[in-house]
Amino acid sequence: MPLKRRTFSQRPPVNSAGLEPDQPASRRVPLAAQLPGKKLDALVVSAAPNVRYLTGFTGSNGVLLLWPAGAILFTDPRYEIQAGQETDCRVQIVRGPLFPALLKAAARKKFRRLGFEPGRLPYEAYETLQSGLPLGASLVPAAGLVEIARMIKSEWEIALIRRSVLTNSKAFENTLARIRPGLRESEIAARLEFQMRLLGAEKPAFDTIVASGPRTALPHAQPTAEPVESNTLLLIDMGATQDGYASDMTRTVFLGRPAPKLRRLYDAVLEAQLAATAAVRAGVTAGHVDRTARRVLRAHGLEKAFIHSTGHGLGLEIHESPRIGKGDKTRLIAGMAITIEPGVYVEGLGGIRIEDTVVVTASGCEVLTPTSKQLTVI
Ligand code: ZN
Ligand code: ZN
Repeated sequence: MPLKRRTFSQRPPVNSAGLEPDQPASRRVPLAAQLPGKKLDALVVSAAPNVRYLTGFTGSNGVLLLWPAGAILFTDPRYEIQAGQETDCRVQIVRGPLFPALLKAAARKKFRRLGFEPGRLPYEAYETLQSGLPLGASLVPAAGLVEIARMIKSEWEIALIRRSVLTNSKAFENTLARIRPGLRESEIAARLEFQMRLLGAEKPAFDTIVASGPRTALPHAQPTAEPVESNTLLLIDMGATQDGYASDMTRTVFLGRPAPKLRRLYDAVLEAQLAATAAVRAGVTAGHVDRTARRVLRAHGLEKAFIHSTGHGLGLEIHESPRIGKGDKTRLIAGMAITIEPGVYVEGLGGIRIEDTVVVTASGCEVLTPTSKQLTVI
């Protein structure tokens, strides 16, 4: 079912629904309450997006010690003013490396079992922590605790993602109007990113993908200095980061007359994208959504040309849980923000991918991306 196109003549303010911004403390308290059940006295949060989620602090050097009765954010003097403005958490300014100061605080509190983020902590940092542990204390891997909490977005976070999506789509629309054969892929990418920033984004959420002709068959193509030719495909995968939150969209457009074969590929991918989107609702597994996209492409004999998963969560990071992949048993929950992005890639011919950002609801999903998915010829 074709989705209704929204206009974005006016970007709604984030707070159009009169929402109150989340207080980081309201995220720390329920997470810290889980620690005793996991036999942890405290958690060392070192991944920057997790620190940001739990404290509001956006600096590049910060580590959080979290326990059921409190939390301390450790950072360096460069961030003293910023931390004071951004976080509702107790802050300790440290001259020099942060971990020794954190360990001292942990020793003072007599913490024995310190959880850490095994997939997020560099080995060197792990060794620093390990070698400075007080006698009798140990480091315990505690993977995914913050990431699981982050999977379900608050109303406030959804408002931020929605705004990031609208900025991204508007940047695409403003740029598309001026794309013509002869422009270099890298120039198109630069124009897209320039527009994003003009419209309020801090930065692109990832390196913008612009690929034309047979290079569209490379799902993660880097833009080249090659001029875009006429009568060919142009694939653009772009995302903005605005107020820390990512958006993600792919559109494949035709520059001039598309070959009938490519048109058929486009129709098949669009059918898969719409079917997978229609399959999204709270309670179904991520694998079910992925299977729905694959089933459509199989019916078109294209299953083998679909070489990645159907989508991924996004938020403070461009790739978050859940993964919308083959056999994934994660149940979707209302408030998850995910992408739906099936694609097919045929070497020598080209690739088509269509991607939207959606939010899971109890009865289905809300497609945030307003950009048309009808086959576009420019
Ligand atoms: Zn993308
Ligand atoms: Zn994506």
